[in-house]
Amino acid sequence: MERSLSPANTSFNEHNWRGAAACRDVGPDVFFPDKGRSPKDAKAYCAACAVKLLCLEAALAVPAGDDHGVWGGTTVRERRAERAKRRYQDHADEPVEAAS
Ligand code: SF4
Repeated sequence: MERSLSPANTSFNEHNWRGAAACRDVGPDVFFPDKGRSPKDAKAYCAACAVKLLCLEAALAVPAGDDHGVWGGTTVRERRAERAKRRYQDHADEPVEAAS
């Protein structure tokens, strides 16, 4: 399934988006909060970030077991749910085999 990025992100691509990251001068503690700490400060940076969708796609490409922190405005749990949703959508048109 082809996924498009918003027009706001068309001057960046998967190779150059990191240079425009709103978090590039922010300490990692914000984006990798300790267990039980709120991700809201990180999400506030992401909400205003010009490359949010490219960042999210990069994070979704990371194997789930290696996935940590807030990327593209999402937490690990939210990305896990997004991967599951995409897997479902990618296979939604496939015929279901009848049980024998
Ligand atoms: S979306 Fe968030 S984590 Fe990704 S580059 Fe922007 S500020 Fe950083």
